[in-house]
Amino acid sequence: MTKIVVLGAGYAGIACGVRLQKLDIPFTLINKHRYHYFTTLLHELAGGRNDAEEYYVDLEDVLNEDQATIIQDVVTALRPQENKIITEKSEYEYDYLVFALGNAPEFFGIPGLKEHALLLRSLDTAKEIREHVEEQFLLYNQDQDSTRLRIIVGGAGLTGIELVGELAEWLPQLTAAYRVPSHQVEVINIEAAPVILPMLDKSLQETAMNVLTKKGIKIRTGEKITRVGEHVVELASGETIEAKTIIWTGGVRANPLLAEAGFETDPRGRAKVNEYLQSVDYENVFVLGDSSCFIGPDGKPLPPTGQLASQMGEHCAKNLNALLRHQELRPFEFHYMGTLASLGSEVGVGNIKGFKTSGVPAGFLKEMTKVKYLYNLGGLRMVAKKRGQFMHR
Ligand SMILES: Cc1cc2nc3c(=O)[nH]c(=O)nc-3n(C[C@H](O)[C@H](O)[C@H](O)COP(=O)(O)OP(=O)(O)OC[C@H]3O[C@@H](n4cnc5c(N)ncnc54)[C@H](O)[C@@H]3O)c2cc1C
Repeated sequence: MTKIVVLGAGYAGIACGVRLQKLDIPFTLINKHRYHYFTTLLHELAGGRNDAEEYYVDLEDVLNEDQATIIQDVVTALRPQENKIITEKSEYEYDYLVFALGNAPEFFGIPGLKEHALLLRSLDTAKEIREHVEEQFLLYNQDQDSTRLRIIVGGAGLTGIELVGELAEWLPQLTAAYRVPSHQVEVINIEAAPVILPMLDKSLQETAMNVLTKKGIKIRTGEKITRVGEHVVELASGETIEAKTIIWTGGVRANPLLAEAGFETDPRGRAKVNEYLQSVDYENVFVLGDSSCFIGPDGKPLPPTGQLASQMGEHCAKNLNALLRHQELRPFEFHYMGTLASLGSEVGVGNIKGFKTSGVPAGFLKEMTKVKYLYNLGGLRMVAKKRGQFMHR
């Protein structure tokens, strides 16, 4: 039997697995955890909106174990010349490999950033941020150190902006619960580029900026972080800002395993793929999602997003099916559905299929995308299972 191994159960890997299952194709899935977490919603968990249970589904709930062999393990190396994967616990051979291990943080060589900043990347790191922030409020009552109540978020892309939107709602609750002086609580969002949310147009950027500023977030665009120390951030202007919480959301690059294995990569470490999503180096390796360098119609690599990863996952499964049936592969085409950024639990900004939206309608549409995602994962059964969490807020 042809051995298909899928690495990673993020947006790309799970979409590929679900589609392979529908096509009745057996495969092995290797992932760090036995669950699939909703990366695009991690800011909600980090910002105290809901508990962790709401942001993942068990892989057994999505995949049928007669069809999918689920292995919880960490991939440590690829040996594409030998069709082999090395993991912490074992090694595996494949005929076809689907690489969907997501990204690694991009620190842009800023000294101290890696060592001193928290990251928002997984269920565990989101919980870490949440616990860390709450702990600072607790400790403030012991030492009255006001830098405990200052949070610096580096980066004003989707991740950074959605995170500060959550913090703007959560911090007043913590302020009241821990009886700390509200005027001392401060969230500063620092962005090197001149604008926030660069994927949206100017009017939506301004709307987001106004909403967040009204909620008390200080947004500083055009300011470069040049060094980070323990509890201090230094800017290009020479200004230093002390804060006990420093969170970095400023960029991602590909999972380093690809470059380490000698795949041809772009400057962000993403493996170059052809129109069918196959690596340009190894035809039997498909590279998807944040680790994939797929050139779009404008000649540039498509930016890494959850929707791109999901679409690649589905398409890859269809191409694997074609290969098994000795049919022609179909080129991948990305269908951009739009972007929605939440600014807290009720409002947002974005565009859907070319139509701009903001305020409560955008917030509502964002909630609807969650339901649609659950439906794609496991049909009405999955929506019904998680619906209470998403709909009954
Ligand atoms: C807070 C936040 C908000 C976002 N909002 C949006 C949004 O609104 N819209 C949008 O389109 N995109 C959004 N994104 C980006 C989106 O989440 C990513 O582009 C998407 O997750 C990429 O999917 P992927 O399958 O490539 O990787 P991932 O979803 O990151 O999946 C990778 C999987 O591989 C596993 N893994 C990694 N390394 C190993 C290893 N060595 N061994 C075993 N398993 C491993 C991981 O645990 C994970 O399960 C957001 C990201 C963040 C952090």
